Parts: sequence; C-alpha cells; structure tokens
Amino acid sequence: MNEIKCQCGNTIKEGSYPSSTSAYYLTESNEDRYADAIAMPVEECVESAKAGSLDNWFSTNKGNGYPEDLSKDTFAYDIIGNSQQVNMNRVYECENCGSLHFLKGDTLLSYSSTKGYNKLFSGDET
Ligand SMILES: [Zn+2]
Repeated sequence: MNEIKCQCGNTIKEGSYPSSTSAYYLTESNEDRYADAIAMPVEECVESAKAGSLDNWFSTNKGNGYPEDLSKDTFAYDIIGNSQQVNMNRVYECENCGSLHFLKGDTLLSYSSTKGYNKLFSGDET
C-alpha cells in the first residue's frame, strides 16, 4: 500500500525510505516467528561455512526464497527484510492530524490522536 487516505482528508504517501510517516510493527505473538526466520538461515549459512560449503549453500538457496542475484554481502539484509515482510505489519501516522493507521492483513484500522502529529516515525527521539 503506497497511499493511505486519512479521515482528515490528508493523503499519507509512502514513497521514500526511510519514511517519517510509516513503520513496521511486530506483535509479541509474532516475535518468535520473526526471530526464527532470521536465525534459521543464518545458522544454516554458518554451518555451511564451517563445513567449507558456503558457496554451495548460496547456490542452493538462490531462488529458494532469496533473489537470484543474492550476493553474500546482502544476505543478512535480505533475510531480515524477508522476515519483516512476512511477520510484521505497517503502521502510518498522519502528519496532519496524528491519526494512526494500522494495516492488519488487508484491513486498515484507524485511530485518532488526542495530541496531534507526534512524529512517531521520524527517527527523532526527542
Ligand atoms: Zn489525518
């Protein structure tokens, strides 16, 4: 979803990365699946490296849930990204009124803010 229409009339666009108006959220019930989806391929990769068959592991796993052009240096980012896509959902903050919009599956759940726009996802911790 690249655009969210807020009830205040504002359109939240998700075009740039990192976005200051959207983030991923991880429910506690998905924490183990998220971590397992990262730990399992890393463990396989490390074990393959220990056994001296790392090139074989990469060859075997290309196209098997990983992109064909998977390089070893992008491997970690790719498995983290894959786990995010599968185990996390998106949340958007309207920069006009501060409403939060949670994407749960294909359903958008919206909640109004009592304190306006709070820059929750801007990366500014102040
Ligand atoms: Zn709004």
